[in-house]
Parts: sequence; structure tokens; C-alpha cells
Amino acid sequence: MDDEWRTRITQALRVEAEKGFPNLQGNRYRFAEFLALTFSEPAPPHLPAQERNLWSLLPTLYRRYDYLPPEERAHLVHRTRHLIEPAPAPKTPPKKNRSMPVGLADPLTALAGIGPKFALQLERLGLKTVGDALRYYPRDYVDYSRRTTIKQIKEGESVTLMGKVRRVNCFTSPRNKKLTILDLTVGDGSGQMKVSQFFRGQQFAHIGWQQKLKQGYPIGATVALSGLVKTSKYGLTLDKPEIEVLALDGDIHSNTIGRIVPIYPLAEGVSVTVVREAIRACLPAAHALQDYFPQSWLTRLDLPSLPQALLDIHFPEDSAHGDRARRRIVFEEFFFLQLGLLLRREERRRVERGQAVPFQTQGALIEQFYHMLPFQLTRAQQRVIAEVLDDLSAPKPMNRLVQGDVGSGKTVVAVAAILAALQSGYQAAFMAPTEVLAEQHYRKLVAWFALMHQPVELLTGSTRSGPRREMLRQLATGELSVLVGTHALIQQTVQFYNLGLVVIDEQHRFGVGQRAQLQHKGRNPDLLTMTATPIPRTLALTLYGDLDVSEIDELPPGRQPIQTTILTPQQRAQAYQFCAREIAQGRQVYVVLPLVEESEKVDLRSALEEHHRLQHEVFPQLRVGLLHGKMKSAEKDLVLTQFRQHQLDILVSTTVIEVGVDVPNATVMLIEHAERFGLAQLHQLRGRVGRGAAQSYCLLMHYTQSEAAQQRLQVLVNFQDGFAIAEMDLRLRGPGAVLGTRQSGLPDLALSSLSTDQQTLTLARQEAQHLLQRDPALKDHPLLHQEVQRRLEKQLGAQVLN
Ligand code: ADP
Ligand code: MG
Repeated sequence: MDDEWRTRITQALRVEAEKGFPNLQGNRYRFAEFLALTFSEPAPPHLPAQERNLWSLLPTLYRRYDYLPPEERAHLVHRTRHLIEPAPAPKTPPKKNRSMPVGLADPLTALAGIGPKFALQLERLGLKTVGDALRYYPRDYVDYSRRTTIKQIKEGESVTLMGKVRRVNCFTSPRNKKLTILDLTVGDGSGQMKVSQFFRGQQFAHIGWQQKLKQGYPIGATVALSGLVKTSKYGLTLDKPEIEVLALDGDIHSNTIGRIVPIYPLAEGVSVTVVREAIRACLPAAHALQDYFPQSWLTRLDLPSLPQALLDIHFPEDSAHGDRARRRIVFEEFFFLQLGLLLRREERRRVERGQAVPFQTQGALIEQFYHMLPFQLTRAQQRVIAEVLDDLSAPKPMNRLVQGDVGSGKTVVAVAAILAALQSGYQAAFMAPTEVLAEQHYRKLVAWFALMHQPVELLTGSTRSGPRREMLRQLATGELSVLVGTHALIQQTVQFYNLGLVVIDEQHRFGVGQRAQLQHKGRNPDLLTMTATPIPRTLALTLYGDLDVSEIDELPPGRQPIQTTILTPQQRAQAYQFCAREIAQGRQVYVVLPLVEESEKVDLRSALEEHHRLQHEVFPQLRVGLLHGKMKSAEKDLVLTQFRQHQLDILVSTTVIEVGVDVPNATVMLIEHAERFGLAQLHQLRGRVGRGAAQSYCLLMHYTQSEAAQQRLQVLVNFQDGFAIAEMDLRLRGPGAVLGTRQSGLPDLALSSLSTDQQTLTLARQEAQHLLQRDPALKDHPLLHQEVQRRLEKQLGAQVLN
């Protein structure tokens, strides 16, 4: 067993345990699949026979992981951890000595009052050392002073109550084997109330599991209940109550824990009292900690010291102290994240890329271009172009992302950059993810560049070999200065004479490797990436913190907002009538179908069926075309050309039209099953219309009863601005969902929220930048240096699963 392998597995096991055994999804495998695969290898020979036996069983056990009740998952993970632990060096257990201060790295068992039994419980939460425990933040608090009593509550109120468990029962519904119910009766002196929790799924019908669950709520335990008051047949109760056990045996002593009680994330079989007491026992170690932020910073930023923040995050005197502690810890998380990203960027610049040639950003070509433009640049465009040209004139290679909504005018920015390269004697490459898009860019560039006598060519998979050979020859000699294209640009045979600038449109559609391949065709070329799927600034800074981000947050004047309507299937006939009316006025319509991810065949069938239905049953007198992902690119081009030339009235399409199709005469976008799309994607689709002078419409047909889903669609009705929509999506669905496949690399933030802590993030980034300007190698800040390294390593470790 080599150490790297062991580290990977250990990490996987630790993370899975920390998250409460959900069978985490990694990039390629779910946790259990990953383990099943890993242990399919033969066991190492040095293991004792018994252990080797277990090893050989693990693949089977992990294949059943999804069906195991939580406590068996915990046990399996625990057992696996033991199996791969390196043989322990024999040593005598350290004596517990109350007068010796404990340090962060000390095991929890070094604390008085924590024996091996408790330590084992804590380990299930991933807590092994004093440092782990201090950083195990509460997920919530119950405020003693704000509670109400059972007698006082009224229907419709949101309340927090505290009381003692009088009765507890757990059973599977006799009528429905998939429904298990936990009933608690709680009294608080003023009265009593029955609350229920429901567990859906056959796995909860397990009697052992139910016993365990009941044991979590022993008679006499103090619990906090919160939720919305509603009426049931047993009188007033709480709807979907949150139930927190505050103390297993009787009273909580308010003099020992203050009026605000921390609520910790727990796992099966871990007692709340043990966690709380262990953390309290660690607090003296917090007192002894040295802050890595200098006192002057704390004063300037109005943050509590590290020891104070750790005390107050766990046991705040009041909510103001708790808030301050949280602010410090959030700042710290973001600060080290940004510092790490910025350090990594500098490192990469030093090692990989070195110097770049400064371009001439004032010159004949750019001036000529400004004069040729038939419109005035928006202020946002001017600002972003200035940012780009600033980068280009510096001797460091540019690495900048331009975010801007569909139609915000990103192409102009790209052109300005390309011209700066040309007038400095360098070549430029412009890559886009689809042929449609590449061709569109090409057409725009040709129109402008022809007037300036600058040659441009287009290279895609469909470029024929004759023209292609000639193009590549001219590229290698430098006769050809600008090449636009698709992935075809990456191929080996494409050789530049002196590539100085790489522009990549819809950058998130390319892998890091593909971007790098194109860059390596030049010596430290500048890199400009663009995206029309803007992500909120917090996410951009967190994910792409090692590049610079510009935002075109303004549309050219005169664009009409697109009228957006949410429809149910019952309103389908009306929707079709509306389309027919627009078509009668000479307009065109898109009908977009969602992908059904499990099967391309199903997708294809549904597209074919819908096309057939619309052409033959709904609009027999109109011309309906079909576009889907399985078509050859020549076929796609044909259909798109027909649509562009108005030989089709309606285009039925899967989401392949998401980027790059530009048909100004199309005024209606009808999206089927809108609830299956992310907001950003819907916004992209909507951007296919509203490209001409006429009023355009977006119809969102949904098939969901879920209020949350409908609320999400409503965001599209209310907002036209892609940045605002992305912000809302982040708030409603969280960063993972917003980023979709881009989420790998999202850091594990213990306390901070990317949707609500924006200001702190911006502040933290500024502070990190200022620090590095003053002290690039952190020579004068050894404590900060040490801490950022520690966190970087931890973060890399946590990414192993992904
Ligand atoms: P994006 O790539 O950001 O979606 P484009 O660069 O394709 O947007 O620009 C969309 C359209 O708006 C193009 O027809 C372009 O010529 C036009 N356009 C760009 N900037 C302006 C401006 N400042 N004023 C008016 N029209 C503009
Ligand atoms: Mg564009």
C-alpha cells in the first residue's frame, strides 16, 4: 500500500464521514463506487488473514452501500478506515495532566473527561484533534431568551419552543410500508404538544433503525422544536418541525452554556452532549492561540481576535457576539482562499509562462476600428476594453475573463484585443465551441478586417483539405494573421508563425487542457476568455480567483425587453394561437425541448415526435424544421440556413441552439418543460429572440406543481439581466446547481455562504491583494504564510474525491 493511495482513500472516507454518509458524488464516481473499485484490487500480502478477508468483502459491501441504513454505513466506513491505517507505532499513551496546556494538534483524548469511548463517537464526525473540534462550527443556535411556550402559540406563527420529551414512538405505517413516523410528545410546563417527523423509504422500516432513532430522544431529554404552527387532529402542532436535542438527561444549565445554545451537525450514534462538552473542553486551547492577523488589521477591519472568535462562535454571550465571531471566521475563510489563489497565480506566471511581449495598444488599427464602428461603445464596453488593453500593454501575460450577457457586445472587445496584437506584429487565434458560432464570428471579423486589409480565415472540422492546406501554410509563414475556428485550431498541424493572443468564446465549454493546448502554440501569448453565461461575482472570484474578471454589465441602448410568460400545459392551445399570429405577421418561432439525460435515444425520439406532431397536427399549413444533436454538422447548417433565410416558420430544437444562433426575424421562444432547465440556460435560450427591432416573447411551458420551481421561473419574468438572474439562481439553488459541471474546484467553506457573504468576500480579496503587493512572498508574515499553506494542502486533499 503506497502512501499516496492511502491518503486518497483516507480522504474519501473522512469526507464521507464528515458529510454524514450521503454517498457523496465525486467527479467520476460516487463514494461507494470509488471504494468498491479500489478494493477490487487484491489485498496487500502483509495484512493478517482476517483483514484480508474483510478486504475481499469490501467491494460487495460498498456496492450495497446505498441500501444500508445510516448506522451501518458509518460502521462500514469506520471499519474501512481501520483496515487501511498504517500499522501503529507502539507507544505508551500520554498521561493526562491537567496542568499541561493542550495544543491544537493534540488528540481529543488528551483532554480530561474524554476517554476512548467518547473519542470514538467524535471520530465519527471527523474530529480527532483539539483543532478539529474548535473548528467544528455550530450549524445553528437556539436562543433561550426568545422562546415561547406551548400555551402561547397560535396557528400560522413560526416559533421555537423548548421542553422535555414525555413520550416517544417510532413505527412504520401499517398502510404504507414506505412511510415511517416518529412521534414525540413534548411538555414545557405550560402544556404539551405532539410533533411528528416522517421518513420516506423502505430502508426506514428496519426495526433496529427505529429503535436507534427512539434512543436519540429519551424520556426526560430537553429538546428545542421549531417550525410553523398548524392545526392537526391532535390539536396544534408544528409543520415539518426541526427537532434539536439540547440535553439528553434533563435540564440544560443556563449558567454553564449561556442563553444561546449551539446546535452542531451530528451523525448517527453521536450524542449532542458529548460534542458540546468536548468543544467546551477545548476552549482553553483557543485562549492560547496566536492570531495570524496582526492586531492592526483587526482594529482596522473591526474583527475579533482568533481566540475570541472561536469562543464566541461556539458559546456566544448574545447574538451580537455570535455575529461578530461569524464575520471574523467568514473573512478568514475567504481571505485564505483568495490569498491561496493569488499566490498560485503568481507561481504559475513565474514557472510556466514568464514574460510576455507588451503590445502597442495605441495605434493605427485600433483608431481606424473605432472610426468604422457604426455605433457608440457603451460605457461598460469602454471600461472593459480599457482593462483589456491595459493588460496587453504590460509585460505580464494577460489572463482575463470577460463576462457579459448575450448581446452585450463582447465581440467588439475581442476585436480590439486582436487589433492590438496585429498592430504589434503578432498573430491572433479566436476559438469558439461550435461551428455555428465560429462562422458567425468569422463573418463579423471579415466584414471589419477586409476594410483594414487584414486577412482572416475560418478553420473548422468541415473545412475542405485544399483550402485548409493553403491556410495552414500562410499561418506558418505569418501571411495570415487571424485564424477563427472551432476545436480544429488545437490540432497538431496548426502551426503559427508568432501567436501573440488567444481569444476563447464561451470558455466554459472547453476543458482546461484544450485552452492550454492552444496557448502553447505561441510563446506566452495573452489569453482573453469570454462567456455569455455570467456567474455571480462571488463564484467567479472563488472559482477563477487566479484570473482577472471584467464585466460588461450594460446592454447597448434601444434593446426592448423580452416579454416572458409562464404557461401550464392547459394553456397550450393559446400558446400555439399566439405563435400562429406572430407567424402570420411574417415572424418566426423556436420550440425548444429539454434533454432527457438518461438516454440520447429518448431525446431523439421526443424531438422527432414533437416535430411530427407540430408539422402534421398543429401547424399543417406551416413549415416546421427540426434541429437536434445527432444531426451531422452539414445537416444542421442546412436547417439553420433555411431558418435564417425564412424558408421555415418554426424550428423545433433540442438545446443545441443555445449558443450562437442569430436570426433577428425570430420573435417567439417557446420552451417546453421549462422547469427542467437552469435559470442561466433559460436566459441563454431566451437570448435567441429579441435580436431584431420587433417586440419578442418567451413562453415558458412547465409541468410542475412545485411552488419553488414556479417561483424560480418567475425570476425570468421579473429580470432581463443575466447577472441578476445568476444571483437569484445562486440564492435559490446554491452554488453547486448554478455551476453544474463547472463545480469541481468549488472550495469547501465551513461557514461562509457564496450567496450572502459577498461583501466580506470582496473585502477579503482586496486585503489579500494589498498584502501581496506589499509582501509578495509573505516574508514579513510568517504566520499567515504557514496558515495559507496549511489550508491549501487541506483543500487539495478534499478535492481528491472530485
Ligand atoms: P455578444 O457576443 O456579447 O452576445 P455581440 O458582440 O455579438 O454580443 O453583439 C451583439 C450585437 O450588438 C451585434 O450586432 C453588435 O454589432 C451590436 N453591438 C455591439 N455593441 C454595440 C453598441 N455599443 N451599440 C449598438 N450595437 C452594438
Ligand atoms: Mg458572442
